[in-house]
Amino acid sequence: MYNPNAYALGANRSCIRDLFEYGQSRAAIVGPENVFDYSLGNPSIPSPKEVNETIRAILEDTGSLQIHGYTSAVGDMNTRKAIAADLNARFGCDITPGELFIGCGAAPELVAVFRALAVPGAEILAIAPYFPEYKPFTEEAGCAFKVVPPDAPSFQIRMDALEAMVNENTAGIIINSPNNPAGTVYTEETVRTLAALLEKKSAEYGHPIYIISDEPYRELVYGGVTAPFIPGIYRNTIVCYSYSKSLSLPGERIGYVYVPRQADDGEALYAAVAGASRAAGHVCAPSLLQKVIARCTHLRPDLDAYDRNRRTLWNGLVEAGYEVAKPDGAFYLFVKSPLADAQAFSELAKKKDVLLVPGDGFGCPGWFRLCYCVSYDKIVRSLPLFAELMKEAQG
Ligand code: PLP
Repeated sequence: MYNPNAYALGANRSCIRDLFEYGQSRAAIVGPENVFDYSLGNPSIPSPKEVNETIRAILEDTGSLQIHGYTSAVGDMNTRKAIAADLNARFGCDITPGELFIGCGAAPELVAVFRALAVPGAEILAIAPYFPEYKPFTEEAGCAFKVVPPDAPSFQIRMDALEAMVNENTAGIIINSPNNPAGTVYTEETVRTLAALLEKKSAEYGHPIYIISDEPYRELVYGGVTAPFIPGIYRNTIVCYSYSKSLSLPGERIGYVYVPRQADDGEALYAAVAGASRAAGHVCAPSLLQKVIARCTHLRPDLDAYDRNRRTLWNGLVEAGYEVAKPDGAFYLFVKSPLADAQAFSELAKKKDVLLVPGDGFGCPGWFRLCYCVSYDKIVRSLPLFAELMKEAQG
């Protein structure tokens, strides 16, 4: 006997994984240089050199038992102090180490937060387009998952639709800005309007409605755009942060949850996040990486390569007649499919070894996602193929 839901999640590969595997098989036949794989969000710029230097220094100057031993379940105090100091300097807040829980990346952190909020009947709202894993994360945590329809082509938030969906069971809204898959960044006006709406609805229902801010891409912004610091605008915000993208460390599994003590039930919620993580077996994030973060949390990625890819791909697509969401952040472009059925367009593109992810799985049919973590040369060589695809789609 086994859990059929868990089986289904394990047995059915995601469409993104399928495309990626397909790309690998094509690469073996036509050569990797001829496969234009825009499917998977794996960083393509190296970690800042200081990260590896720090790892070497820690290996040399710290005893083995200390490097590899368990830390406190909620994370090493020095690491939490360093993160708090960095956030306070950047955002003018007064975060203390006791509000930070060191986790193994945004994915398990989100699961812990959803479990912490999962009272009977609890609903979590996501805004389309959304990261597909939110659905299994919330549902397996015991919450209902509801989706607010997309606000195309700006991909800000449809406040009217959101307001109509908030009800007495709404425990939280998950937001992700800079956004995967849209590459958009919520404006301060969007966040302030959302905050005002949630204040009003929280008062109406007599309980807080939390924002869960999923922030793996916070530092990945371009052209002078900044992502608003959400807890500074809405006090009932729980942040799930990850170093996977900002320090290009996705395989190392490290990040943190920030639960402000000034949030409603802030201290209890922090304990509930720690408890939910404990129940999921996720305590004491990798010890070496915690030590690295204590010394490297101030480092920022060098975004030049992403920015060059972003601008070249955006210009080329627009010139070829595509409608593209304004790509202010993360490393994705979200593009309106020239065929109403983006899955059919993805199949058409596969024939030219161009791999793009249909928006259906992100709750946004009719659009597709391109992850531009690829070489600049590939971006340039793929542009004529996108132009041909546009012509073919237009018949
Ligand atoms: N949230 C979003 C929006 C993501 O795009 C990802 C990964 O791609 C995650 C969460 C999970 O990131 P992590 O590697 O920190 O678990």
